[in-house]
Amino acid sequence: MSKKTSIRTNILSPVSATSYDLKPDHILTIDQGRITGIVPASTGQHWDVDLRNNLAIPGLIDLHVHLSQFRIRGHYRDALLPWLKEFVFPEEQKSADYDFAHTLAEDFIQALYKAGTTTAVIYTAPYIASCEAAFEVAKLQNYRAFIGMTLMNQNSPSMMQQSTKQAVDDCLALIDEYHNPDGDLQYIFTPRFAPTCSMELMQWIGTYARQNKLWIQTHLSENKNEIAWVKELFGLNTYTEVYDKAGILTDKTILAHCIHLTDGELNLLKSSGSKIAHCPDSNFYLRSGQFPLAEVREKDIPFALGSDVGAGTSLNMLYHAKMYNFRQTDTPVSPADAFYRITLGAAKLLGLNDKIGSLEPGKEADIVLLNLPEHNTVITDNVLSELIFTGHEWQINRVYSKGILKA
Ligand SMILES: [Zn+2]
Repeated sequence: MSKKTSIRTNILSPVSATSYDLKPDHILTIDQGRITGIVPASTGQHWDVDLRNNLAIPGLIDLHVHLSQFRIRGHYRDALLPWLKEFVFPEEQKSADYDFAHTLAEDFIQALYKAGTTTAVIYTAPYIASCEAAFEVAKLQNYRAFIGMTLMNQNSPSMMQQSTKQAVDDCLALIDEYHNPDGDLQYIFTPRFAPTCSMELMQWIGTYARQNKLWIQTHLSENKNEIAWVKELFGLNTYTEVYDKAGILTDKTILAHCIHLTDGELNLLKSSGSKIAHCPDSNFYLRSGQFPLAEVREKDIPFALGSDVGAGTSLNMLYHAKMYNFRQTDTPVSPADAFYRITLGAAKLLGLNDKIGSLEPGKEADIVLLNLPEHNTVITDNVLSELIFTGHEWQINRVYSKGILKA
């Protein structure tokens, strides 16, 4: 547990998708892993560290990221299916080896901390060794994460394809060993996507996850060729109906992408309480298409942002907040909205907003301190839009996770 520290700095914290709280020159106190006070410096309260040239924001949250693809960022193909076949599958096969997977997990979690991301929802490779290594490293590093072994029991390269029994047994073993809903680490069921998962396997996941209140993550409706393949494989009218039939659309399900959805599919997502991980950088990298933001907003479906590394090119969530704005041709995205989707909005979606997502007394001390640009000596309301559009280039000075200095 951390000892008491007080930092004199500028504080920017989200309130909602339309509002935020800016507190120039305040003293933020951390004690026993929590934020215990935020008061104006003018009160004359004691402080230990002078970071008046910094901006403090909450620890960032990445709602969708693939640990086992960390080293193939930038390996380019212009569509999902060839990219998976040529780069992702050969790379993920390396993580069948525990030692390889462990070293990779160490690099990855350190890189997340350095990027200011203190909570992540993570896919590993389709091997229990890969997932165990990720949990072990996360535990050692006190990282907060939802981690799942990617499941593939059909239409997969032979080296990666699990039997249904093996997939089920491995998930149960991982849950038994690592899942702790009251702690920092949770197991999340991770069927890769419909083409590589049988209805039987997905139905088992749906039933088990509902009974035991576990989270589920998968991909939905990313790329047009993928959608055509799903319809052919399962003989249903839409991609979302496949997941609905499997029973995996729950209020603890995170669906990445959701680009080419019909109105009926959006209604299914809304009525099931499912959440969306929007990954704008990845969507343009793989030429998948544009996220239907106006429709998702109109239906009020909860969503937040994911890096989707390796199809996403960076772990820096400030970069993805900017891309969220840039990848909409007609629908405006405000800086407050973009900030919310990588902080409090993501925390709320995960049911963690009482613990993380904003800088308030009582919350866990997940704090990122960025060096302000040198000209920025007077903090004004412009600091939020500067952060969203240029913040990915600002140097990250300190990262606290639960009050412990991690980067
Ligand atoms: Zn993904």
